[in-house]
Amino acid sequence: MRLLFLGPPGVGKGTQAAKVSTACSIAHISTGDMFRRHISDGTPLGKRVGRIMDRGDLVPDSVTVEMLMDRLGHADAADGYILDGFPRTLPQARALDETIGEDALDAVIVLTAPRDALVDRMLARGRADDTEASVRNRLAVYERETAPLVGFYQKRGIVMPVRGTGAIEEITGRILEVLAGLSRA
Ligand code: AMP
Repeated sequence: MRLLFLGPPGVGKGTQAAKVSTACSIAHISTGDMFRRHISDGTPLGKRVGRIMDRGDLVPDSVTVEMLMDRLGHADAADGYILDGFPRTLPQARALDETIGEDALDAVIVLTAPRDALVDRMLARGRADDTEASVRNRLAVYERETAPLVGFYQKRGIVMPVRGTGAIEEITGRILEVLAGLSRA
């Protein structure tokens, strides 16, 4: 199964992608986690992206796409994966199409939550890039660059909206139910 998790920052994509990847035994591929690893390992890439991430801006497409495509070539991605936080722009989505094919994705899970809940969650989380200015910028960047991807994938009929509010386990349950519906179809 090849899945994509889409939704605004703070909606719980990472948390849910981790749960669902375990439940479905597929790889969890998070570009945000990969960048954070580069930063904590002090790699040249980490040095390049640290400030961009702190501001809540997007890492350039070329850098992100190259890192992601390399990751998709690892053995654990052969049997399926959840992409969490990629693609975030139309050029990234097109690059993904070119690599895996336009009909390779089984579903795009779009997590939704009211804006107030997103801001509260991010400020409570306390990640390095969860300052108020960065949070505000990331929400704006999402609306401008990433939200159009919902329409992009809707044309393929693979968008599955899931309400991202409530208890973590409840939300996981909703996603797994949607996925079970897919395999019955
Ligand atoms: P996340 O953990 O998904 O919230 O990502 C944290 C930060 O990493 C983002 O605010 C961006 O700066 C960067 N990032 C993660 N994924 C991407 C992507 N697909 N394209 C560009 N930047 C990204």
